[in-house]
Amino acid sequence: MPSYRPATQLVHGGTTRTPHGETSEALFLTSGFVYESAEQAEATFTGDVSHYQYSRFGNPTVAMLENRLAGIEGAEACRATATGMAAVHGAMLSHLKAGDRVVASRALFGSCHWIVSTLLPRYGISSEFVDGADLDAWRAALSRPAALVLVESPSNPMLDIVDLRAVCGMAHAAGAIVVVDNVFATPLLQKPLELGADVVVYSCTKHIDGQGRVLGGAVLGRKAWVEDTLQPFLRNTGPSLSPFNAWLLLKGLETLQLRVHAACASATTVADMLARHPAVSRVWFPGRPDHPQHALAMSQMSAGGTLVAFELAGGKPAAFRAMNAFRLIAVSNNLGDSKSLATHPATTTHMRIGAEERARLGITDGVVRLSVGLEDAADLTDDLAQALDGLQARGLRDGLVRAAAE
Ligand SMILES: *Cc1c(COP(=O)(O)O)cnc(C)c1O
Repeated sequence: MPSYRPATQLVHGGTTRTPHGETSEALFLTSGFVYESAEQAEATFTGDVSHYQYSRFGNPTVAMLENRLAGIEGAEACRATATGMAAVHGAMLSHLKAGDRVVASRALFGSCHWIVSTLLPRYGISSEFVDGADLDAWRAALSRPAALVLVESPSNPMLDIVDLRAVCGMAHAAGAIVVVDNVFATPLLQKPLELGADVVVYSCTKHIDGQGRVLGGAVLGRKAWVEDTLQPFLRNTGPSLSPFNAWLLLKGLETLQLRVHAACASATTVADMLARHPAVSRVWFPGRPDHPQHALAMSQMSAGGTLVAFELAGGKPAAFRAMNAFRLIAVSNNLGDSKSLATHPATTTHMRIGAEERARLGITDGVVRLSVGLEDAADLTDDLAQALDGLQARGLRDGLVRAAAE
């Protein structure tokens, strides 16, 4: 495919047509494939003939998705998986063996954190977390040999930024490949491979589907690594993406740029409104100059993203009261949906990591994570305002009641 611009690649990339000449990508909902002869089957298995064999490791609809994603990412190769966690797990376990060492930023999606902290050590792979924003901590951790570095930037839920260029340089010097979980940035806002990463992973469940319908994942990297290291692992362990889900994700990609740009613009409006509200003690949005790593974020991302985190001065009671008062924004642990979703990380997505680790990550009981969707931004700020004004009114009333009692 010629080097079309992203919006065009999102619509056309990877498309192959059957002899029927269908406009929309064909859905090959089939587990297996038939051969013209026993000889063709034999030649397929020896590799002399290229022919689909079995949808656990190859399907035409899934291949269209993989090729479209590779084109947008600027990657040599892509493999799609059933979920984002299958992508992260496959990328790591296919590359690692007993005796290896992994270094990861502490601020990771909960299940990624579990793989690094709990699963890998069971197989004799040592792991170490560092504060992702602290380059001295990275330098110290990568002064010893490592096999793999895992980073998420921006991170979930506090939107911390990791300096990808600097960490990739240190990781390569330590002998490690760098895997970047690029879910929060999407393939449109940040290009980890251009910043030095070796492998990019996605939960396609998030912005790529973008309409809250299906789970999916993807791993992208160099052709040799994908074919020789990742593919045998996926082929033989089976975390395959359903062709039906691949088809929906292809349709999701067609509108990805429209959706992500619209949600980014609304997220900026929402973050600015939250920053002005007296009930909010702090806002985290990489696109705002008051984000502690704003300059770094803007040097590696083209926009601030679609997620905003904010802290309510009244802690958990205020966070719960505000969330329960939302009329439009829904309470959910998902993100990257066309519907705006609010999460209380301390009691849901980040409940299991424990209070000590939450404190280290800055996830206080007053923090709410907002995934901004495709509603009119003014309706979102209206909804936030009525919920937060309610907190203010209640705070005033409580204060007056206390004052009267004193
Ligand atoms: C959701 C998510 C995952 C896991 O993806 P699933 O599709 O739910 O398995 C991994 N990393 C990040 C940053 C995520 O947001």
